[in-house]
Amino acid sequence: MKRTDFKLDKMKNKCIGILTSGGDASGMNATIRAVTRAAIYNGFQVKGIYRGYEGLIAGEVKELTTEDVSSIIQRGGTILKTARSEAFTTPEGRKKAYDVLRKEGISSLIIIGGDGSLTGARIFANEYDDIICIGLPGTIDNDLYGTDFTIGYDTALNTIVECVDKIRDTATSHDRIFFVEVMGRDAGFLAQNSAIASGAEAAIIPEDRTDVDQLEKFIGRGFRKTKNSSIVIVTESPKDKNGGAMYYAERVKKEYPQYDVRVSILGHLQRGGAPSAYDRILGSRLGEAAIQALLEDQRNVMIGIRNNEIVYVPFAEAIKNDKPLDKSLIRVLGELSI
Ligand code: ATP
Repeated sequence: MKRTDFKLDKMKNKCIGILTSGGDASGMNATIRAVTRAAIYNGFQVKGIYRGYEGLIAGEVKELTTEDVSSIIQRGGTILKTARSEAFTTPEGRKKAYDVLRKEGISSLIIIGGDGSLTGARIFANEYDDIICIGLPGTIDNDLYGTDFTIGYDTALNTIVECVDKIRDTATSHDRIFFVEVMGRDAGFLAQNSAIASGAEAAIIPEDRTDVDQLEKFIGRGFRKTKNSSIVIVTESPKDKNGGAMYYAERVKKEYPQYDVRVSILGHLQRGGAPSAYDRILGSRLGEAAIQALLEDQRNVMIGIRNNEIVYVPFAEAIKNDKPLDKSLIRVLGELSI
Protein backbone atom coordinates (compact mmCIF):
# COMPACT_ATOMS: atom_id res chain seq x y z
CA MET A 1 0.00 0.00 0.00
CA LYS A 2 1.33 3.46 -0.93
CA ARG A 3 2.00 5.87 1.95
CA THR A 4 -0.81 8.18 0.83
CA ASP A 5 -3.24 5.26 0.47
CA PHE A 6 -2.45 4.26 4.02
CA LYS A 7 -3.08 7.82 5.21
CA LEU A 8 -6.34 8.02 3.31
CA ASP A 9 -7.43 4.74 4.79
CA LYS A 10 -6.46 5.87 8.27
CA MET A 11 -8.30 9.17 7.99
CA LYS A 12 -11.38 7.78 6.24
CA ASN A 13 -14.64 8.72 7.92
CA LYS A 14 -12.84 11.00 10.35
CA CYS A 15 -14.67 14.20 10.96
CA ILE A 16 -13.23 17.69 10.58
CA GLY A 17 -14.78 20.77 12.19
CA ILE A 18 -14.30 24.18 10.62
CA LEU A 19 -15.00 27.63 12.06
CA THR A 20 -14.30 31.29 11.34
CA SER A 21 -13.37 33.52 14.27
CA GLY A 22 -12.52 37.14 15.07
CA GLY A 23 -13.11 39.83 12.46
CA ASP A 24 -14.57 38.69 9.15
CA ALA A 25 -12.37 38.94 6.08
CA SER A 26 -13.19 38.64 2.40
CA GLY A 27 -12.00 35.29 1.13
CA MET A 28 -13.12 33.36 4.21
CA ASN A 29 -15.89 31.80 2.12
CA ALA A 30 -13.44 30.73 -0.56
CA THR A 31 -11.43 29.10 2.24
CA ILE A 32 -14.45 27.33 3.74
CA ARG A 33 -15.28 26.01 0.28
CA ALA A 34 -11.74 24.78 -0.28
CA VAL A 35 -11.49 23.05 3.10
CA THR A 36 -14.89 21.41 2.66
CA ARG A 37 -14.33 20.17 -0.87
CA ALA A 38 -10.73 19.01 -0.35
CA ALA A 39 -11.81 17.22 2.83
CA ILE A 40 -14.67 15.41 1.13
CA TYR A 41 -12.45 14.59 -1.84
CA ASN A 42 -10.01 12.94 0.57
CA GLY A 43 -12.65 10.96 2.41
CA PHE A 44 -13.35 13.11 5.46
CA GLN A 45 -16.69 14.19 6.83
CA VAL A 46 -16.94 17.97 7.45
CA LYS A 47 -18.97 19.85 10.04
CA GLY A 48 -19.38 23.62 9.99
CA ILE A 49 -19.32 25.35 13.37
CA TYR A 50 -21.28 28.60 13.40
CA ARG A 51 -20.28 31.89 15.14
CA GLY A 52 -16.69 30.92 15.95
CA TYR A 53 -15.74 29.71 19.40
CA GLU A 54 -18.94 31.15 20.83
CA GLY A 55 -21.06 28.92 18.58
CA LEU A 56 -18.80 25.96 19.28
CA ILE A 57 -19.45 26.28 23.00
CA ALA A 58 -23.19 26.56 22.29
CA GLY A 59 -23.11 23.48 20.04
CA GLU A 60 -24.06 25.26 16.79
CA VAL A 61 -22.77 22.58 14.46
CA LYS A 62 -24.06 21.32 11.09
CA GLU A 63 -22.63 18.95 8.50
CA LEU A 64 -21.36 20.62 5.32
CA THR A 65 -21.75 19.02 1.90
CA THR A 66 -20.17 20.08 -1.39
CA GLU A 67 -23.49 21.73 -2.31
CA ASP A 68 -23.51 23.79 0.90
CA VAL A 69 -20.38 25.57 -0.29
CA SER A 70 -21.36 26.08 -3.90
CA SER A 71 -21.62 29.64 -5.19
CA ILE A 72 -19.89 31.18 -2.18
CA ILE A 73 -16.37 31.74 -3.55
CA GLN A 74 -17.39 35.19 -4.80
CA ARG A 75 -19.07 36.32 -1.57
CA GLY A 76 -17.54 38.49 1.15
CA GLY A 77 -18.10 37.80 4.87
CA THR A 78 -18.40 34.23 6.11
CA ILE A 79 -21.33 31.84 5.67
CA LEU A 80 -20.34 30.29 9.01
CA LYS A 81 -20.66 33.70 10.69
CA THR A 82 -18.06 34.83 13.17
CA ALA A 83 -17.90 36.10 16.72
CA ARG A 84 -15.61 37.13 19.52
CA SER A 85 -16.00 34.82 22.51
CA GLU A 86 -15.23 35.81 26.07
CA ALA A 87 -16.23 32.33 27.27
CA PHE A 88 -13.51 30.64 25.19
CA THR A 89 -10.83 32.59 27.04
CA THR A 90 -11.76 30.66 30.21
CA PRO A 91 -10.87 27.00 30.97
CA GLU A 92 -14.56 26.29 31.66
CA GLY A 93 -15.57 27.64 28.25
CA ARG A 94 -12.90 25.61 26.48
CA LYS A 95 -14.03 22.46 28.35
CA LYS A 96 -17.55 23.02 27.00
CA ALA A 97 -16.10 23.47 23.51
CA TYR A 98 -14.19 20.20 23.91
CA ASP A 99 -17.31 18.36 25.04
CA VAL A 100 -19.20 19.56 21.96
CA LEU A 101 -16.39 18.39 19.66
CA ARG A 102 -16.40 14.95 21.31
CA LYS A 103 -20.19 14.71 21.11
CA GLU A 104 -20.06 15.61 17.40
CA GLY A 105 -17.25 13.13 16.74
CA ILE A 106 -14.93 15.89 15.52
CA SER A 107 -11.27 14.91 15.84
CA SER A 108 -9.66 17.76 13.86
CA LEU A 109 -10.50 21.44 14.05
CA ILE A 110 -9.65 23.99 11.38
CA ILE A 111 -9.72 27.58 12.62
CA ILE A 112 -9.80 30.49 10.17
CA GLY A 113 -8.98 33.74 11.95
CA GLY A 114 -6.39 36.22 13.12
CA ASP A 115 -3.88 36.47 15.90
CA GLY A 116 -6.43 36.13 18.73
CA SER A 117 -8.18 33.15 17.17
CA LEU A 118 -4.90 31.29 16.73
CA THR A 119 -3.86 32.17 20.28
CA GLY A 120 -7.09 30.55 21.46
CA ALA A 121 -6.42 27.54 19.22
CA ARG A 122 -2.95 27.11 20.65
CA ILE A 123 -4.16 27.19 24.25
CA PHE A 124 -6.98 24.77 23.42
CA ALA A 125 -4.63 22.38 21.58
CA ASN A 126 -2.29 22.31 24.58
CA GLU A 127 -5.16 21.46 26.91
CA TYR A 128 -6.82 18.82 24.72
CA ASP A 129 -4.24 16.97 22.72
CA ASP A 130 -6.70 14.46 21.27
CA ILE A 131 -8.06 17.25 19.04
CA ILE A 132 -5.80 18.16 16.11
CA CYS A 133 -5.85 21.91 15.44
CA ILE A 134 -4.86 23.56 12.17
CA GLY A 135 -4.99 27.35 11.72
CA LEU A 136 -5.56 29.39 8.59
CA PRO A 137 -4.62 33.11 8.57
CA GLY A 138 -7.85 35.02 7.95
CA THR A 139 -7.60 38.72 8.76
CA ILE A 140 -7.49 41.95 6.77
CA ASP A 141 -4.62 43.20 8.94
CA ASN A 142 -1.92 40.94 7.39
CA ASP A 143 -0.27 40.87 10.82
CA LEU A 144 0.44 37.16 11.27
CA TYR A 145 4.08 36.19 11.40
CA GLY A 146 5.26 33.44 9.09
CA THR A 147 2.98 34.16 6.16
CA ASP A 148 3.57 36.81 3.51
CA PHE A 149 -0.18 37.36 3.14
CA THR A 150 -3.34 36.72 5.10
CA ILE A 151 -6.73 35.96 3.57
CA GLY A 152 -8.70 39.21 3.18
CA TYR A 153 -5.79 41.63 3.15
CA ASP A 154 -5.62 42.08 -0.62
CA THR A 155 -9.35 42.78 -0.92
CA ALA A 156 -9.28 45.32 1.92
CA LEU A 157 -6.24 47.01 0.41
CA ASN A 158 -8.00 47.37 -2.94
CA THR A 159 -11.13 48.72 -1.26
CA ILE A 160 -9.07 51.36 0.55
CA VAL A 161 -7.34 52.42 -2.65
CA GLU A 162 -10.69 52.76 -4.41
CA CYS A 163 -11.99 54.96 -1.57
CA VAL A 164 -8.85 57.11 -1.47
CA ASP A 165 -9.08 57.70 -5.22
CA LYS A 166 -12.55 59.13 -4.63
CA ILE A 167 -11.41 61.22 -1.69
CA ARG A 168 -8.59 62.58 -3.86
CA ASP A 169 -11.15 64.06 -6.29
CA THR A 170 -12.84 66.11 -3.60
CA ALA A 171 -9.55 66.93 -1.82
CA THR A 172 -8.13 68.38 -5.04
CA SER A 173 -11.25 70.36 -5.88
CA HIS A 174 -11.19 72.10 -2.49
CA ASP A 175 -7.42 72.28 -1.87
CA ARG A 176 -7.81 70.21 1.27
CA ILE A 177 -5.71 67.98 3.48
CA PHE A 178 -7.43 64.70 4.25
CA PHE A 179 -6.49 62.35 7.06
CA VAL A 180 -7.89 58.95 6.09
CA GLU A 181 -8.06 56.35 8.86
CA VAL A 182 -7.75 52.69 7.95
CA MET A 183 -7.84 49.45 9.94
CA GLY A 184 -4.79 47.40 10.89
CA ARG A 185 -4.77 47.42 14.70
CA ASP A 186 -1.08 47.42 15.60
CA ALA A 187 0.13 46.83 12.06
CA GLY A 188 0.69 49.36 9.29
CA PHE A 189 0.51 47.07 6.24
CA LEU A 190 -2.85 48.41 5.06
CA ALA A 191 -1.88 52.05 5.65
CA GLN A 192 1.61 51.90 4.15
CA ASN A 193 0.70 49.95 1.04
CA SER A 194 -2.56 51.79 0.37
CA ALA A 195 -0.60 55.05 0.64
CA ILE A 196 1.85 53.85 -2.00
CA ALA A 197 -0.91 52.50 -4.24
CA SER A 198 -3.07 55.63 -4.05
CA GLY A 199 -0.23 58.14 -4.36
CA ALA A 200 -0.90 59.51 -0.88
CA GLU A 201 1.56 62.01 0.54
CA ALA A 202 2.26 60.13 3.77
CA ALA A 203 1.31 57.22 5.99
CA ILE A 204 1.30 57.30 9.77
CA ILE A 205 1.84 53.76 10.96
CA PRO A 206 2.49 52.07 14.32
CA GLU A 207 5.83 50.63 13.17
CA ASP A 208 7.21 54.15 12.67
CA ARG A 209 5.54 55.86 15.59
CA THR A 210 8.14 55.57 18.29
CA ASP A 211 11.08 57.86 17.66
CA VAL A 212 10.08 60.90 15.63
CA ASP A 213 6.67 62.51 15.56
CA GLN A 214 5.49 61.47 12.11
CA LEU A 215 3.35 64.53 11.65
CA GLU A 216 6.34 66.78 12.26
CA LYS A 217 8.32 64.71 9.80
CA PHE A 218 5.63 65.06 7.18
CA ILE A 219 5.23 68.79 7.68
CA GLY A 220 9.00 69.24 7.93
CA ARG A 221 9.30 67.74 4.46
CA GLY A 222 7.29 70.70 3.28
CA PHE A 223 4.01 69.10 2.29
CA ARG A 224 1.77 71.10 -0.02
CA LYS A 225 4.63 73.08 -1.45
CA THR A 226 4.00 71.67 -4.86
CA LYS A 227 0.49 70.25 -4.46
CA ASN A 228 -3.05 71.43 -4.19
CA SER A 229 -4.23 68.50 -2.08
CA SER A 230 -2.67 66.17 0.44
CA ILE A 231 -3.76 62.78 1.68
CA VAL A 232 -2.32 61.16 4.76
CA ILE A 233 -3.29 57.58 5.56
CA VAL A 234 -3.35 56.83 9.30
CA THR A 235 -3.58 53.42 10.97
CA GLU A 236 -6.30 53.22 13.62
CA SER A 237 -4.71 53.00 17.04
CA PRO A 238 -6.80 51.43 19.78
CA LYS A 239 -3.82 50.93 22.06
CA ASP A 240 -2.27 54.34 21.58
CA LYS A 241 -4.65 57.07 22.70
CA ASN A 242 -2.57 59.68 20.90
CA GLY A 243 -3.27 58.23 17.51
CA GLY A 244 -5.89 57.96 14.84
CA ALA A 245 -6.86 60.39 12.07
CA MET A 246 -8.87 62.68 14.42
CA TYR A 247 -5.87 63.30 16.61
CA TYR A 248 -3.63 64.34 13.72
CA ALA A 249 -6.35 66.47 12.09
CA GLU A 250 -6.96 68.34 15.35
CA ARG A 251 -3.26 69.02 15.70
CA VAL A 252 -2.93 70.42 12.18
CA LYS A 253 -6.03 72.59 12.73
CA LYS A 254 -4.45 74.04 15.84
CA GLU A 255 -0.85 74.32 14.72
CA TYR A 256 -1.45 75.23 11.06
CA PRO A 257 -4.80 77.04 10.94
CA GLN A 258 -4.18 78.14 7.36
CA TYR A 259 -4.91 74.63 6.11
CA ASP A 260 -8.37 73.27 5.33
CA VAL A 261 -8.38 69.86 7.05
CA ARG A 262 -10.85 66.96 6.84
CA VAL A 263 -11.04 63.46 8.26
CA SER A 264 -12.43 60.32 6.69
CA ILE A 265 -12.65 57.11 8.74
CA LEU A 266 -13.23 54.25 6.32
CA GLY A 267 -14.39 51.84 9.04
CA HIS A 268 -16.27 48.68 8.14
CA LEU A 269 -16.38 49.50 4.44
CA GLN A 270 -12.93 47.90 4.45
CA ARG A 271 -14.29 44.51 5.47
CA GLY A 272 -17.08 44.10 2.95
CA GLY A 273 -17.30 43.26 -0.73
CA ALA A 274 -16.44 40.45 -3.07
CA PRO A 275 -12.98 38.99 -2.53
CA SER A 276 -10.27 39.86 -5.03
CA ALA A 277 -9.00 37.12 -7.34
CA TYR A 278 -5.87 36.99 -5.20
CA ASP A 279 -7.82 36.32 -1.99
CA ARG A 280 -9.95 33.67 -3.70
CA ILE A 281 -6.85 31.86 -4.90
CA LEU A 282 -5.07 32.27 -1.56
CA GLY A 283 -8.09 30.95 0.36
CA SER A 284 -8.38 28.02 -2.07
CA ARG A 285 -4.70 27.13 -1.79
CA LEU A 286 -4.48 27.46 1.98
CA GLY A 287 -7.78 25.65 2.54
CA GLU A 288 -6.67 22.70 0.39
CA ALA A 289 -3.27 22.72 2.09
CA ALA A 290 -4.95 22.39 5.50
CA ILE A 291 -6.31 19.00 4.43
CA GLN A 292 -2.93 17.97 3.03
CA ALA A 293 -1.41 18.94 6.39
CA LEU A 294 -3.84 16.63 8.19
CA LEU A 295 -2.93 13.82 5.81
CA GLU A 296 0.72 14.45 6.68
CA ASP A 297 -0.02 14.20 10.43
CA GLN A 298 0.69 17.88 11.04
CA ARG A 299 -0.88 19.47 14.11
CA ASN A 300 -0.89 22.81 15.89
CA VAL A 301 0.37 24.67 12.86
CA MET A 302 -0.86 27.61 10.84
CA ILE A 303 -0.76 27.14 7.09
CA GLY A 304 0.98 30.12 5.52
CA ILE A 305 2.40 31.24 2.22
CA ARG A 306 6.01 32.36 1.83
CA ASN A 307 7.62 33.20 -1.51
CA ASN A 308 4.49 31.72 -3.11
CA GLU A 309 5.01 28.36 -1.41
CA ILE A 310 2.86 26.72 1.24
CA VAL A 311 4.54 26.55 4.66
CA TYR A 312 3.59 25.12 8.05
CA VAL A 313 4.15 27.63 10.86
CA PRO A 314 3.91 26.35 14.46
CA PHE A 315 1.21 28.28 16.37
CA ALA A 316 3.78 29.50 18.88
CA GLU A 317 5.85 31.10 16.11
CA ALA A 318 2.90 32.67 14.30
CA ILE A 319 1.52 34.26 17.46
CA LYS A 320 4.55 35.26 19.47
CA ASN A 321 6.46 37.16 16.83
CA ASP A 322 5.52 40.56 15.47
CA LYS A 323 5.48 40.50 11.70
CA PRO A 324 7.96 43.12 10.51
CA LEU A 325 6.97 45.67 7.91
CA ASP A 326 9.51 46.00 5.14
CA LYS A 327 11.13 49.33 5.96
CA SER A 328 11.97 49.96 2.30
CA LEU A 329 8.25 50.65 1.82
CA ILE A 330 8.64 53.73 4.02
CA ARG A 331 11.45 54.94 1.82
CA VAL A 332 9.49 54.25 -1.39
CA LEU A 333 6.54 56.32 -0.18
CA GLY A 334 8.83 59.09 1.05
CA GLU A 335 10.72 59.37 -2.22
CA LEU A 336 7.63 59.19 -4.43
CA SER A 337 5.54 61.73 -2.57
CA ILE A 338 7.78 64.79 -2.99
P1 ATP B 1 -8.86 39.99 13.75
O1 ATP B 1 -7.40 40.08 13.42
O2 ATP B 1 -9.70 40.07 12.53
O3 ATP B 1 -9.30 40.91 14.83
P2 ATP B 1 -8.61 37.87 15.69
O4 ATP B 1 -8.67 36.39 15.53
O5 ATP B 1 -7.29 38.43 16.10
O6 ATP B 1 -9.12 38.50 14.31
P3 ATP B 1 -9.74 38.41 18.31
O7 ATP B 1 -11.00 39.11 18.68
O8 ATP B 1 -8.46 38.92 18.85
O9 ATP B 1 -9.74 38.35 16.71
O10 ATP B 1 -9.85 36.87 18.76
C1 ATP B 1 -10.97 36.08 18.38
C2 ATP B 1 -11.35 35.16 19.50
O11 ATP B 1 -10.26 34.28 19.81
C3 ATP B 1 -11.66 35.84 20.82
O12 ATP B 1 -12.96 36.37 20.87
C4 ATP B 1 -11.49 34.68 21.80
O13 ATP B 1 -12.63 33.85 21.82
C5 ATP B 1 -10.33 33.90 21.17
N1 ATP B 1 -9.11 34.27 21.89
C6 ATP B 1 -8.35 35.36 21.71
N2 ATP B 1 -7.34 35.40 22.62
C7 ATP B 1 -7.49 34.30 23.39
C8 ATP B 1 -6.78 33.75 24.52
N3 ATP B 1 -5.71 34.36 25.03
N4 ATP B 1 -7.25 32.60 25.05
C9 ATP B 1 -8.31 31.96 24.54
N5 ATP B 1 -9.03 32.43 23.50
C10 ATP B 1 -8.62 33.57 22.92
